Parts: sequence; structure tokens; C-alpha cells
Amino acid sequence: MPTTVTLIPGDGIGPDITEATIRVLDAVGADLVWDRQMAGASAAARYNDPIPEATLDSIKKHRIALKGPLETPVGEGYRSVNVALRKTFDLYANVRPAHVILHGGRFEKVDIVIIRENLEGLYYGAEHYIRIGDDPKAAAESIALITRYGSERAIRYAFEYAVKHGRKKVTLVHKANILKYTQGLFLDVGREIAKEYAGRVQFEDRIIDAMAMQLVLKPENFDVIVTTNLFGDILSDLVSGLVGGLGLAPGANIGPTAAIFEAVHGTAPDIAGKGIANPGALILAACLMLDHLGDIARAERIRAALHSVIDEKQVLTRDLGGTASTSQFADAIIARL
Ligand code: ATP
Repeated sequence: MPTTVTLIPGDGIGPDITEATIRVLDAVGADLVWDRQMAGASAAARYNDPIPEATLDSIKKHRIALKGPLETPVGEGYRSVNVALRKTFDLYANVRPAHVILHGGRFEKVDIVIIRENLEGLYYGAEHYIRIGDDPKAAAESIALITRYGSERAIRYAFEYAVKHGRKKVTLVHKANILKYTQGLFLDVGREIAKEYAGRVQFEDRIIDAMAMQLVLKPENFDVIVTTNLFGDILSDLVSGLVGGLGLAPGANIGPTAAIFEAVHGTAPDIAGKGIANPGALILAACLMLDHLGDIARAERIRAALHSVIDEKQVLTRDLGGTASTSQFADAIIARL
């Protein structure tokens, strides 16, 4: 039986990279049926709603989605369409693997998976202005909510991920020296969970500022990283920069009843509609989706084909130093499948 997947091409470069990704999945013979839906600015323009009910129903029904980048239209009542989708489907863990694919850069041995708590912290969304005298915006306040429950399931996911993928170490990144309650709770929960995995997975913790330096000096020292929402957002862009940029950085949002796979990058408005975006990140996100569905063989075939295209350096998109278009890059992968 083929698996039905909700497909959201998205905005900006989304439609281009989605088309390329589907062609690659077809070429490898992935047993998938697409339920095409809209979200983001394109959905707002068409249905007056950036997250139409039909899109939500489709994800609810199929429990798995592949999503291009989404633009959040101004004044539609959402701070971020992406964040709203994560909340709606309780997608508590964001998984972003990064390893060197484009060789010859500054680092050769980076192979890091960042697991970011995806729903809490400063992204919880409780933010407001405070009026003082006649200045309605004299101050602003934001609540960084950390719960034991939310921390526990993200951190446990990181340890389980390490066990399942044969990884040796989990590094918990925090700022508990200053934010003693919120970040302190996240660290305490990490230390408790680490005890259950003693002898199987090593555990260490790092303060975010020290971690930022160590990641750019010695990224090969790190394996699985687990951290709170905002730190995870920042560190995953940093780490994607260590291994060749956003064009090759995939992500998975995992929840108890649904999973949404996506590229880490945004809509890239500067290159939208030009047919030159790198589809690599979304293709690799589709590979994470195939892994999730248990079709590891096809995921590995796609990854091997993509790696060989990049190793040969004949057909590379502009962000990787070449001149190829989105579809030429996809064609080169398909030729190697
Ligand atoms: P958003 O607000 O949607 O996150 P943004 O422009 O702030 O958009 P990105 O879309 O992630 O952030 O783009 C950051 C930079 O990286 C841009 O210069 C963009 O062109 C480049 N970029 C992002 N994704 C790709 C890609 N797939 N291929 C080539 N360049 C990309």
C-alpha cells in the first residue's frame, strides 16, 4: 500500500524545490501518493487563510507531511505559520542533522544532529508591551516557559535518537548559570534522564556562549546536541554554515501523532522564481521522511546519489559555487539513481 503524504509546496523557492524533490522521489520509486495542500502566503492569497482547514485535515488524516518554506503574511493573526503548525500538531522535537557533504571547506569531520525543543521557551508566544505613562510601548515582556514535561520528552527523544542511530554522546546546551529556573530546569531534567542511559550514551552539558565558540573551533567534538527552542534555532543555522550552508540542511518536526519534514531554510525571496535554488535541503528532508517511514534503502540511495553529484562538482547550484539550475541539479541526482 502506498503511503499518502500531505505535500505543501509553500512560498518563495518552495514550488521549485518541491517539484525537483518529487521528481527525485519518483525516480527512486518511492511508494508515495501526494495530497497537495496549501499554506503560508500562497494560501492566504487564495483562501484568505494562511493555514486552511483542508491542510490541517489532510495532515491530521495522513499524519505525515513534506513542506516547502512558508511565508507568514503580515496581519493574518499568526506570528509564524511554521510555529502555528508545530503547535497544532504538538511537534515537540525538531531534528536537524548536519554533516559535511561539500568537501574542501573549512571542516571535514562535522557530523552533528541538533535536537531542538520545538514548542516552549521564548517561542511559547506570551509576549506583550507594557505602558508607562503615555508611552504604550515603554517596555516589552516575553515569557520563556519551560516545563518538566516538555523538556523531558525532547531530551528523551535525543537520547533515544542517539541509541537508535548508534551515536555516542548527547551534549545538552543551556544558560543555567544565569537563567537558573527556566534553563536550570531543562538542565536538571537532562541530568536525570542521562542517568537512565549511563553506559550506553555519554552525557555532557555546555553553556550556550562557550558552545558557540567550541562549535566553530572544534565541531568534530560534538555528536547529538539537545537544547531549548531559541538556542536550537541559532545553533542549527550555525552548524549548517559549518557544512556548506542552508542549501543542504534538512529538518524534521516530530510529534506523537504527526511528523512534518522540511528544509531548515526559509523562502529565500531574493532568488524566488529564478529556478536557481538548491533543492538539496528539501531532498534530504524527504530522505528523513523515508527513514521515518522505514524505507531506509531508498533514502540511502538518494543520499548516495546526491553526495556523488556534489563530490564530482560538475553540477552544483550557485550557493555551492556552481552555475546549475534547480532542475539540472535534480536531473544529475536522477541520472545517478
Ligand atoms: P525567511 O524569512 O523565509 O526565513 P530569509 O531570506 O530570512 O527568509 P532564508 O530564506 O533562509 O532566509 O535565506 C537566507 C539566505 O540563504 C538567502 O540569501 C537565500 O537566498 C539563501 N538560501 C536559502 N535557501 C537556499 C537554497 N535552497 N538555495 C540557495 N540559496 C538559499
